[in-house]
Amino acid sequence: MPAQIIDGNAIAAKVKEQIKARTVQLKAQGRVVHLVAILVGGSPAAEMYASRQAEACKAVGIEYELLKLHDETTQPQAIAAIEKLNHDASVTGIMLHLPVPKLLNEAELQQRIDPLKDVEGVNPANLGFLVSSKPLNIPCTAAAAFELIKSTGVNLRGAEAVVVGASEIVGKPVALLLSDERATVQICRSATPDLAGHCNKADILVAAVGRAHLLGGEHVKPGAVVIDVGINRMTLPDGTKKTVGDVDFDAAREKACFITPVPGGVGPMTVAMLLQNTVRSAEAAFARKS
Ligand code: NAD
Repeated sequence: MPAQIIDGNAIAAKVKEQIKARTVQLKAQGRVVHLVAILVGGSPAAEMYASRQAEACKAVGIEYELLKLHDETTQPQAIAAIEKLNHDASVTGIMLHLPVPKLLNEAELQQRIDPLKDVEGVNPANLGFLVSSKPLNIPCTAAAAFELIKSTGVNLRGAEAVVVGASEIVGKPVALLLSDERATVQICRSATPDLAGHCNKADILVAAVGRAHLLGGEHVKPGAVVIDVGINRMTLPDGTKKTVGDVDFDAAREKACFITPVPGGVGPMTVAMLLQNTVRSAEAAFARKS
């Protein structure tokens, strides 16, 4: 029987309802969840992404402000803008739109965001909290993949999990989250020999690489949960373009028990996790003040 599809849109919608209930409650106490997104330079695509984000925030009662810095902003100027937001008590969350102009040091800017306000979980301090099993803000895409795995109800304790890809914002944090649930976790990388031999023993298989259809049916253990984080543009034989994941969905679906589609899986859930981190950060800040 083909795998059951994990509907990221539907699960994200439920998370957003819960977030909205929390912001309504906070507003009744006179407390505003206020996210500032920094956009340096910017393109029409970046502006469109930011306006979609503003809509998503508005829909759940988060006040969204876009701080636009001109494309010749220097590193010290960008740091000064971040520091100002760090010290502004009315700002409960901060995020930086990527990419930033080439002359700026993206990693340093992310490190300058106060970890307590870092709603994308990109400050290395937040990865550190995850390593110590005391997560504060979990990187949004990793949190999304993990929540979708949990939504299946499969028992993670003692499960074999394979994460393909080892980035700091997806692969590594997903592996840590699964390990904290007592799964036995392997991280596969480009240097891994016999990728299929590792993957097809996995009860939980997470693909976070960025290579269209890297994983096929031979990589999937019968009955596995397959989470596809990848977003790739693929040109079909007729010349049309299509967004696909790292997993060959049709082949994997024949063997898996649960599988995420691309689009409609991890993507919408990532947005929901950003909103969730934003509300959680605000609640923690309000609790510290009271
Ligand atoms: P990244 O480039 O930072 O990391 C990719 C990782 O894959 C690296 O660790 C690299 O060593 C590893 N890798 C490369 N080739 C490999 C191979 N052949 N076998 C095994 N591992 C290999 O990318 P990222 O930021 O982690 O993103 C991964 C994918 O997820 C991309 O397609 C990206 O667009 C997508 N993504 C989706 C969302 C979402 O919201 N759905 C969010 C972030 C990233």
